[in-house]
Amino acid sequence: MSLNIEEIKNNLLKEKEELEIILKSINEEIEYIRSNEVYEYSEVAEAYEEKQDLHIKKEKIEERIKKILNTLEKIEKGNFGMCVKCGNPIEEVRIKFDPTLECCRNCI
Ligand SMILES: [Zn+2]
Repeated sequence: MSLNIEEIKNNLLKEKEELEIILKSINEEIEYIRSNEVYEYSEVAEAYEEKQDLHIKKEKIEERIKKILNTLEKIEKGNFGMCVKCGNPIEEVRIKFDPTLECCRNCI
C-alpha cells in the first residue's frame, strides 16, 4: 500500500480538532437558546426550527468524530484500510477520499 498512514493520521486529528471546535460552538448556541426559552409568540416556531437544525448538525458532527476515533484506533491496531465485512483491503482511491470508510466497493 502506498498510502501515507502518518499523513492520514495527522489529517484525521486535525479534522477532529476542527470538528470539536464547531461542536463546542453549537453546544453553546443550544445552551443559549435554552436559557432564553421565553419567546414572543411569533418567534417560537423559528426558534424551534433553529434548535432542530442545531441538533441535527450536532449529531452529524458527533457521528463523524466517532468515525474518526474508530479509524485512529484501527491505525494504532494496524488493521487500517481493511474492509470490515470481507477483510480485503479497501481501494486506495476511496481511502484517500475518506479514510474513515469501513467497506470495500464490493461490500457497500
Ligand atoms: Zn469487502
